[in-house]
Amino acid sequence: MQTPLCSVCLENDDILCNGCRSKLDDGDITQVDVDLSRLLYRLSDKIGTLEDITIKRTVQTSNAVVILTGKGDGPKVVGRDGRVVKKIADEFDKSIRVVEDTGEVTEVVDKLLSPVEYEGIRTVYRPDGEEKKVTVDEDYEPRVPFTKEEFRDLVEDLTGEMIVLSYE
Ligand SMILES: [Zn+2]
Repeated sequence: MQTPLCSVCLENDDILCNGCRSKLDDGDITQVDVDLSRLLYRLSDKIGTLEDITIKRTVQTSNAVVILTGKGDGPKVVGRDGRVVKKIADEFDKSIRVVEDTGEVTEVVDKLLSPVEYEGIRTVYRPDGEEKKVTVDEDYEPRVPFTKEEFRDLVEDLTGEMIVLSYE
């Protein structure tokens, strides 16, 4: 398992080595990175598919934790019938979204909004230029755990693209 923590810190539950401690103090990793990595490591005792996953980092918003995984590792972190992601959600008491860190717009938008469906990503032309927009039925707004600003910032952080979330 590759995580933001070194293997020594991953395998114990209370102490951080000097290297990981200074990463935490410098903000290179967060307490959520630490807690999530250790939780997944503990779960990998019983859930063997977690043993070879890569966790790149996590991003927190007001109501959610976004977990960035290696390519192909998303379904393993979600788990069969979502059982791994449910354990993570219980531990952090937040909505969890698992996104493979590929930089691909479709992957990022799909997984941030999942399980809510959306109309494809469209380019909208405006007098002052164009913008990309993803439209979600307004009935689903309560099921999206991000504000519009958080969504825009996340997509930009993860893909470099600016995409506006719209409820219609
Ligand atoms: Zn360490």
